[in-house]
Amino acid sequence: IEEKELNILKDLKDVIKLDTDAFIINHNGDLVASTVSLKNMSNEQQKIQKDWIKEQLEKETGFAVIKYKNNNGKDFFLSCTPIRDNRWYLITSIEILDEYIALSIIFAMVAFLVIITFGAMIIVIINRNTNYRYALEKTLYTDPITGGISYTNFERLVREKLKDTKPNVYSFISLDIHNFKLINDIHGGGGGNATLVHIHSMLRKYLDKDDLMCRVDADLFNILTKTKPIEEINDFFEKFATDLNSFNDKKKDKYFLKIKAGIYIIPGDQQSLMAIRDRSNIARKMAKNQHTTKLYTFAIFDESELLRQTREREFENTMEQSLKNHEFKMYLQPKINIQTGKIAGAEALVRWDSPVYGMIQPNSFIPMFERNGFIIQIDLDLFKQVCIFLKERIDNNLEPINISVNLSRIHLYNPNFLDDFIKIQEQYNIPSKYLEFEITESVAFEQLDAMEECINKIHEAGFTCSIDDFGSGYSSLNSLGDIPADVLKLDKTFFKVDSHQKIRNKHIITSVISLAKQLNMKVVAEGIETSSQAHFLQNIECDIIQGFIYSRPLPVAAFKEFLETWSDDIFCQTM
Ligand code: C2E
Ligand code: CA
Ligand code: CA
Repeated sequence: IEEKELNILKDLKDVIKLDTDAFIINHNGDLVASTVSLKNMSNEQQKIQKDWIKEQLEKETGFAVIKYKNNNGKDFFLSCTPIRDNRWYLITSIEILDEYIALSIIFAMVAFLVIITFGAMIIVIINRNTNYRYALEKTLYTDPITGGISYTNFERLVREKLKDTKPNVYSFISLDIHNFKLINDIHGGGGGNATLVHIHSMLRKYLDKDDLMCRVDADLFNILTKTKPIEEINDFFEKFATDLNSFNDKKKDKYFLKIKAGIYIIPGDQQSLMAIRDRSNIARKMAKNQHTTKLYTFAIFDESELLRQTREREFENTMEQSLKNHEFKMYLQPKINIQTGKIAGAEALVRWDSPVYGMIQPNSFIPMFERNGFIIQIDLDLFKQVCIFLKERIDNNLEPINISVNLSRIHLYNPNFLDDFIKIQEQYNIPSKYLEFEITESVAFEQLDAMEECINKIHEAGFTCSIDDFGSGYSSLNSLGDIPADVLKLDKTFFKVDSHQKIRNKHIITSVISLAKQLNMKVVAEGIETSSQAHFLQNIECDIIQGFIYSRPLPVAAFKEFLETWSDDIFCQTM
């Protein structure tokens, strides 16, 4: 930079004193900013400027300077500098004192104004980006419905807290509202959202300051808290759920927000957050199944539940193939007539003989098969195995025995369910009188009319029918007369009572048996394990016993042996 220019820059104060204008126009010639109002300019000045500027804009030449005289005969320089990608133009006019100085001033001013403009633009851009980032962060880090932290934010904070944590220090809670969908349906989305805000603020009120909490999705909340003793957890839920529902106090039509929660006690820092959350969800689903009038239910995760669920999924994937492979085996448990000492028949019970998992007991797969409907095929398959067993006896001129099969409730949803059984029976040509269907008490008493019709159909086909597990639920003795079953199977819980209840229980068993007799029903007592139980039952004229006292359920070969070796002597030894 030459010395002269430096001097000019130093004397900027003098520059200001000069008769100078600067303004910015856009491509259309509209004024964007200016140091003077155009109105203050002489007409002559304006005209020269406008014409020349127009010409420059049309030429799109870039930086240009002209010299002109104003009204008072003063010499001026006018410069035009495109800025902002030629979208704006910086125009300066300056009085010429010394041509060189004036030109230098123009350059200095242009440079100065260009820097200012770019500076301002950069500030605007940064500012805009900051606002954008702030808005982005807000959506990322806050939950739009509750205004609390978002799940992304929660995850980040949880990870920080769990870094190097010792076993069992923290618990992860998954919490939601029973039937929240109903609130949405009744009160609309707005009502639903207001409820979520209410839950959020109540949680915040009862959680510790350091606890982390957020709404994950719909009505699901996650919490990270210090592990507490069970009494304190109970206390927390009690207070929280009561306060949460206090809005009902003055309401005539009350509706309750029932909480269900799953708690996972975090065993250390080695687990992923996803695994932790999954476990709390599994626990929550367990809590969900507990029917209760309480305002809250919760369950603490236990590893065996996860194993069970994983196993269930594996079972579901292999069940069809297993059925084809004949892995579902019929076991037979003998029933003994305790008045005569003779074999009265047997109950067919399924076992899953899996090459992968070994022998699986029905309680581990029947409930799942009832849920997914596969039990229908299992029951039909067992029935077929029963028919094959009886057919073999008939073909070998051995006396067939009475065999009962369990009928899952799922069959009863189909009014024609019996047809499939009859088809199999006809295929093997088995007389109906040897076949019995066991229907559990809970199903039989659920819908008395439908059950009566169903049993009538079973009878029409010539089969017999029993009420299974009688006394395990809440069946009323009064309704027994409405069910035309042939056999009443007393549940094993009758015989598993504490000693102080025994006398009372004996009276009940005696009355049930006498009632069944009056209704022309045979009585089978299940789960009999001791000779004192057997004696008692013999004395009160119970007909049949099924229990470990005589035999566990046996595979076919062992059952055949049982039939061959059973004798009055063995019977007497057990009594
Ligand atoms: P359930 O129908 O009440 O069958 C009687 C259960 O009591 C059998 O259990 C049997 O092994 C057991 N048991 C018999 N005597 C005694 C005893 O003296 N003491 C004790 N503690 N238990 C005894 P299992 O075979 O494990 O079957 C459990 C349940 O699974 C059955 O209860 C039945 O509800 C269901 N189930 C079994 N096989 C089938 C089937 O093929 N189809 C359907 N739908 N359900 C089945
Ligand atoms: Ca049964
Ligand atoms: Ca039973």
